[in-house]
Amino acid sequence: MKEPITKYKYLFGPVPSRRLGLSLGVDLVPKKVCSLDCVYCEVKKTDKKTIKQAEWVPAASVITELGIWLESGVETEYITFSGYGEPTLNNKIKDIIDYLKKRTATPLALLTNSTLFSDPKVRERLLDLDVVLPSLDAANQKIFRLVNRPVPSLDIKEIIEGLVRFRKEYPGKIWLEILLVDGLNDQENHLEELARAIDRIKPDQVQLNTVARPGSEEWAKKACLEVLDKAVGIIGKSGTDVKAIADFRPGNADGNAKNRHAKTTSNTDRQALAERVLEIVSRRPETVENLAASLSEDREEIAAVVAGLVKEEKIVEVLEHGKRFVKHA
Ligand code: SF4
Repeated sequence: MKEPITKYKYLFGPVPSRRLGLSLGVDLVPKKVCSLDCVYCEVKKTDKKTIKQAEWVPAASVITELGIWLESGVETEYITFSGYGEPTLNNKIKDIIDYLKKRTATPLALLTNSTLFSDPKVRERLLDLDVVLPSLDAANQKIFRLVNRPVPSLDIKEIIEGLVRFRKEYPGKIWLEILLVDGLNDQENHLEELARAIDRIKPDQVQLNTVARPGSEEWAKKACLEVLDKAVGIIGKSGTDVKAIADFRPGNADGNAKNRHAKTTSNTDRQALAERVLEIVSRRPETVENLAASLSEDREEIAAVVAGLVKEEKIVEVLEHGKRFVKHA
């Protein structure tokens, strides 16, 4: 079924994700509210660094948009709470999870920075999700401050304890992500420390990642492949399932898109397409190939839309990590 060209405020994509395949994103906080200000953040620097739980965006409005989306009949592999900041800061997340569980069999995922997991109320709201992807880039306070630049009251030991408790309470899958930044958290002794924390958390899988897109700080660089291999060995030595996550391949993205979406190229209004490109790149930088896969469009069509937006100075193209990315101006 053809996707309606609707301008959503709280939904974006579906976007190709390195970990979840093709996923519809749901934003539960405004740009950019987060408890951290990670050096590699693909959104931008955090404007409002907070641990305040509130209805940061109205749950009723998110549910209205999800209703329109679900009516369109477009399939995605996941519906994922992610986007502009930390989704668990929205204290109405459970209302939205409950609504989706009644309306669709599409698995629900959450990308979270784990910082609120020491709060039992937060953990309880998340129990009906199918997959939780918490991140943990640091095992001690010094590295936590260097990489994630948290709200000062956040304590990494309490966060790790929250994850240990969540594992005991939550029946779904936990895929824990560690993002390694060259020279910041990829030292061998720190990897050993992370391995000890992970042995206690017992996630179903650990996904090792590194910087892959232009981020908050230009100086934050990707860890080298040898370090990623070493990290796989250290974290996996006690039997934990560890995977180094490769970049999303445009070829795979095309495959996903062709299987799951009707083509919309022939009569798509270019203005509407430009708005959808802006929606995606305002959340994170993307390549033209990934945008094409995400929007089920020909690469040439997207390239033309991107060229128009560059001319209007709404977006810019940058070359980073050996790839050309499109990002919000
Ligand atoms: S990467 Fe995630 S957790 Fe870190 S600052 Fe950005 S939105 Fe927040």
